Amino acid sequence: MKYVHIKTFGCQMNERDSEIMAQLLANQGFQSCEAPEEADLALVNTCSIRDKAEQKVYSLLGQLRDLQAHCGRPRFIAVAGCVAQQEGERIMDRMPAVSLVMGTQQFYRLPELLARLEGGERRVAALDLSANFVIPAFQKAQKPALAQTAAVQRFVNIMQGCNNFCSYCVVPYTRGREISRPLADILEEVQTLVAQGVQEITLLGQNVNSYGKTNAVADQALRFPDLVRAVAATPGLKRLRFTTSHPKDLDERLMRCFAEVPVLCPHFHLPVQSGSNAVLARMNRGYTAESYLDKVATLRHFRPDITLATDFIVGFPGETEADFTETLRLLETVRFAASFSFKYSDRPQARAASFPDKIAEEVKAERLARLQAVQNAITLDTNRRLTGQTLDVLVESANSVKGQGRTPGNRVVHFQVAPGQELPLPGALVQVRIEQAGPHSLKGTLQKRR
Ligand code: SF4
Repeated sequence: MKYVHIKTFGCQMNERDSEIMAQLLANQGFQSCEAPEEADLALVNTCSIRDKAEQKVYSLLGQLRDLQAHCGRPRFIAVAGCVAQQEGERIMDRMPAVSLVMGTQQFYRLPELLARLEGGERRVAALDLSANFVIPAFQKAQKPALAQTAAVQRFVNIMQGCNNFCSYCVVPYTRGREISRPLADILEEVQTLVAQGVQEITLLGQNVNSYGKTNAVADQALRFPDLVRAVAATPGLKRLRFTTSHPKDLDERLMRCFAEVPVLCPHFHLPVQSGSNAVLARMNRGYTAESYLDKVATLRHFRPDITLATDFIVGFPGETEADFTETLRLLETVRFAASFSFKYSDRPQARAASFPDKIAEEVKAERLARLQAVQNAITLDTNRRLTGQTLDVLVESANSVKGQGRTPGNRVVHFQVAPGQELPLPGALVQVRIEQAGPHSLKGTLQKRR
């Protein structure tokens, strides 16, 4: 038996890629392990979206290098993901203990690349972003034969890459151009997962609204709203979600799905990034604050109970106090249920790295703290409004006395059972009466199974 230790940084795309790598290795007789000192292979799946994420990668690689020097394990150290794509063989120059570097469209070759290391090669790098290679490999690696063991919720990749070139973002450079998976492959994977007991599917892509628009793999006339309806028709599927959407590509056909597709959860992650039109233009986002607010209003027209989440970047080059005030105003207008907010940092290759008028770190930190304080107050208030209500909850985990799950609006609920009541198993849909609301989760008591 051989062991692999996988550490994943970054987004859900990376989580999904790590699952695929784990499955490819399992097919070669590898078992996952928690302790890197027990591993034959330590695999670091990296994120370069922010400077801090990249620093964490190098810090971990340093720890693995020291471990290898002291106890001979992990035998091989490999780096995958966006930092691998961006830095390439420079990672091995800087950190000679690393012997394998795989780009974002080459990790499907992991067994073959590993065999080269085991055969005596000292350094192996696979970094090609060529679509000629990617399309067949991408399809093959996503086949249901590679599906994992049953779970309540799974991600299904529908596309990879991005064509948008937001000026702060490295994704188009590290993950390449958009490629959509064929409908038949996606449906086959969803059906297999549901047959294994999966209740909730999240369709995954950098910009799901572009599905089918830009490459020959996808069915020519098929667009994302069609895909949502086709996946939603899978017998036995209880919940459907998707992420991430670009506001400029969000159209009424997709918004209507929230009114007309019963299994589509009323939760939408719609990254806005800034409330200032001047900043949005420099970010190359392709929409204005006004058009974003119009889309929010239309979404709420079709699905009044929809919960909205977003992303913010504060301290983008040239962001004035007035720009930032507009961001706060947009947050207070929409009242997002949750947001993910970050300080801007220069990323190599991204256009904004060369923009003038960089914002001082302390100003960025102060704006981030103000924005997060406003968001936290809104989140707590929106959660408190749910106390006294009975909500549907899909159970994700349970022990002998309490369980945890999520509402359709993606709020985490911790619940207890009344004396004499049987605790539901993960995967059950139940109703929970909400009794307490915190900033990050709700607490309540199980009422009944649905
Ligand atoms: S839409 Fe913009 S932020 Fe999102 S992955 Fe593409 S370039 Fe990056």
